[in-house]
Amino acid sequence: MDTRIDLRSDTVTQPTAAMRDAMMAAPLGDDVLGDEPTVIKLQEKIAELLGKEAALFVPSGSMANMIAIRSQTEPGDEIIAHEFSHIYQYEGGGYAALAGCSIRLLQGDRGLFNAIDVQAGMRPVDAHFPQSKLVVIENTQNKGGGTVWPIQQIKEVTAKAHDLGCACHLDGARLMNACVASNIAPAEYAQHFDSVSMCFSKGLGAPVGSILAGSNELIGRAHRFRKMFGGGMRQSGLLAAAAIYALDHHVDRLAEDHQNAKRIAEALADLPGISVDLESVETNIIYFNLDDSTKPAPDLAQRLESAGLRSLATGNSQIRFVTHLDVSNDQVDRAIQILQSEMGG
Ligand SMILES: *Cc1c(COP(=O)(O)O)cnc(C)c1O
Repeated sequence: MDTRIDLRSDTVTQPTAAMRDAMMAAPLGDDVLGDEPTVIKLQEKIAELLGKEAALFVPSGSMANMIAIRSQTEPGDEIIAHEFSHIYQYEGGGYAALAGCSIRLLQGDRGLFNAIDVQAGMRPVDAHFPQSKLVVIENTQNKGGGTVWPIQQIKEVTAKAHDLGCACHLDGARLMNACVASNIAPAEYAQHFDSVSMCFSKGLGAPVGSILAGSNELIGRAHRFRKMFGGGMRQSGLLAAAAIYALDHHVDRLAEDHQNAKRIAEALADLPGISVDLESVETNIIYFNLDDSTKPAPDLAQRLESAGLRSLATGNSQIRFVTHLDVSNDQVDRAIQILQSEMGG
């Protein structure tokens, strides 16, 4: 058995025995033919959770985001998002390749932006310009450090976007982390958006699967694009069952992941040669920066890995840790010991 502590990402979680039982017990059909009972159950559950009319189960978060973009734009339109956004950084340029859109990038602390930034990023209606059609907000903001968007800021940004004729998409890959950290209900965030995506295969611990929610009309269009992008699945109730299990059993415990991240960050703050902004560790993601004595990051990550702690070097001077379902309190103690013995003065 691999005894290394894996803090590379919350995508590495393995389905628990109880989750596997739920998968095996699920009634199955054919979702492309429209009679997959467990997928239908999941889609209805999410629509209710997010206060939307409908939802669509898809293979990945990237596909959920691409379908959301394609369904709410035409080729030649422009989308507006933060420069740190997952859709811009980590989805293979899908907004351009699959939706034919350009992207207007906004800046701002820790992946956040405000209504003034949105207004400034919006194109005037004029035949010279691409048309701004969709604003994308990511909550929690991954590259920003697992940042939770203040609900007031979401209200202001989406109100401005809607006033200016733009739809709004929420990349909620880790929406449940935001909800648990802020004690704000999923529907309270979702009400400000035309479309919302969520991942089950991150901290929620399902093996595969994401979802897109919105109006009946939007999900109708999304259904066609899911098929076009090759995301129509058959006996996918096997996967939907894991997502249902995760929603029923793995949401409240995200608070433990957040506490564990805090503990690790506090230990890091005491070590020489690095800096970490403790205030910025709000959920399950920790970024820390190395100074000249501890760079380069890939070498330090390699040393930590040899000592039993896996991480992700996200540049020459930055390392990321992510806590999740498969990181126990004991492993957090051990991770802190490894950090102290590898990096301590
Ligand atoms: C992980 C993630 C996604 C989706 O990633 P997939 O690997 O395609 O499932 C989307 N947005 C954010 C913010 C993410 O962290």
